[in-house]
Amino acid sequence: MDHILHLKCLICGKTYRPDEIDYVCPDHGNEGIVDVQYDYEPIGQRLNRDELRRSTDFTIWRYKPLLPIEPDAPVPPLTVGWTPLYYAERLAAELGLRHLWVKDDGRLPTASFKDRASAIAVVKAQEKGAKVVTTASTGNAAAALSGLCASVKQPNVIFVPETAPQAKIAQLLTFGSTVMLVKGTYDDAFELCMQAAQTYGWYNRNTGYNPYMSEGKKTVSFEICEQLGWQAPDRIFVSVGDGCIIGGVHKGLKDLLALGWIDRMPKLMGIQAEGSAYLYQAWQNGEDVLTKPPITAQTIADSISAGLPRDRLKAMAAVKETGGAYLTVSDEEILAAIPALARGCGVFAEPAGAAAYAGLLKAISQGLVSPEERIVVINTGSGLKDVASAMKAVDLVGTRPHRVVPTLDDLKRVIEEEL
Ligand SMILES: *Cc1c(COP(=O)(O)O)cnc(C)c1O
Ligand SMILES: [Zn+2]
Repeated sequence: MDHILHLKCLICGKTYRPDEIDYVCPDHGNEGIVDVQYDYEPIGQRLNRDELRRSTDFTIWRYKPLLPIEPDAPVPPLTVGWTPLYYAERLAAELGLRHLWVKDDGRLPTASFKDRASAIAVVKAQEKGAKVVTTASTGNAAAALSGLCASVKQPNVIFVPETAPQAKIAQLLTFGSTVMLVKGTYDDAFELCMQAAQTYGWYNRNTGYNPYMSEGKKTVSFEICEQLGWQAPDRIFVSVGDGCIIGGVHKGLKDLLALGWIDRMPKLMGIQAEGSAYLYQAWQNGEDVLTKPPITAQTIADSISAGLPRDRLKAMAAVKETGGAYLTVSDEEILAAIPALARGCGVFAEPAGAAAYAGLLKAISQGLVSPEERIVVINTGSGLKDVASAMKAVDLVGTRPHRVVPTLDDLKRVIEEEL
């Protein structure tokens, strides 16, 4: 892998060759998250924007020279990446904005953003010849790893809180993973999974520990910029739990700047649930995320419920270095955003996905956004992941179905009353 310079510890700055360490900097227990640093010279020779224009590979693998894998590494067959970037004209007009796009990652094979990372995890695990791959997850990273493993027949063990939404658990069981429903929170599932990986020598996909996950997640930035003709947007809204997605979004943009493919850095807006706002608090109060203790997390948006965000170093840097902001949204605002986004542009999001849109509404109400800005909102997960929350959301805005007996007379009664 001559395109990787080294892995750099975000705590002490020490660097390692990729074959020296598998995950973290050994000097800080499990906390020494490292950043994969590239040599952009050979990458720029292998890949350029003209070549990409001609590429017919509409997956994340179109950017293979920018990923931490060998050029000839076999990749899983599921179609991961190149999700639609919708120009949301009507929604923009309603909000008094000029340019708004919605990147719909609910369209990935297991219906969440996590497929981008899990695809890389499977390649790395197979590179290592791993017998078993494992992860802890609030549900989506699990479903993603489960589906991608199924596509290449890779055995895997998954740890999720027993309270994870049914649809996500159904995915795991259907794909044939070994599933541990942990009686506890995501943070408990995480600790147990870390111990299990250590004890049994399983390949560890855990977020904020495996350095290659942000490398998969960064592909969303490549796609957004390419889909916008390499004119980077002004601002990107993304919901934040562990902080791996926002860190990945930032990393992708840094890659593109280093290659000279975009000419400015968008401001990154990290949206957290009020009940799971570790990073918002740290950002607002200037707290050090290496010493700030875990909080108790509680929100309807299960995918962003994290008491101790595992990728907090990268997540803080993403907002600070881009001049963005952290914002919080309440569960009510998150629920209201589900039908608002769906009705405004036809994208059906799970609560954590809709949280990013709720964040845009909040930013507008706080005067943080100017009308001419080019804005992207990322929907990170499909609404079908959590039907119970969608039903709650429509009920809250007073949308109810009509019950009719199957006669035209009864239908007429309803139509005359309603319309
Ligand atoms: C995981 C996830 C997030 C948050 O990503 P982090 O890397 O944990 O910050 C947001 N939305 C959905 C749907 C997710 O699955
Ligand atoms: Zn270190």
